[in-house]
Amino acid sequence: MMTQYAFHCPSCGAHLNRNEKIVLKTRRSNGDEGEIEMSTSVGNYEYQHNPDVLFSPGEIVDFICTSCNAELNSKEFENYALLNLKVAENIVFDVLFSRQAGVQKTYLVTEDGIETYSGN
Ligand SMILES: [Zn+2]
Repeated sequence: MMTQYAFHCPSCGAHLNRNEKIVLKTRRSNGDEGEIEMSTSVGNYEYQHNPDVLFSPGEIVDFICTSCNAELNSKEFENYALLNLKVAENIVFDVLFSRQAGVQKTYLVTEDGIETYSGN
């Protein structure tokens, strides 16, 4: 299971876990900002957002590092955000998760290939 591993910002390296959640800032296309807490279990799509907003289906959300304010948008996959998942001292995997509201898809890029997780 991936639950106990640490998520880091690919930009500044900050540790993004808090109380077994991944905490990130969000920015909607209308400029509204908020904070999201997501499960650290890859493939679990439950989240809490503060303030409590209802994202429009298909809406693209920017995810932002709470430490360095860098946008976590993947450069290779424009509708995905990128985090680093540190599984051991010298082993870091890329985690890509959908930035599109309602699209529950995550890719875990490991040395052995790409694992796909889908919630719907
Ligand atoms: Zn950062």
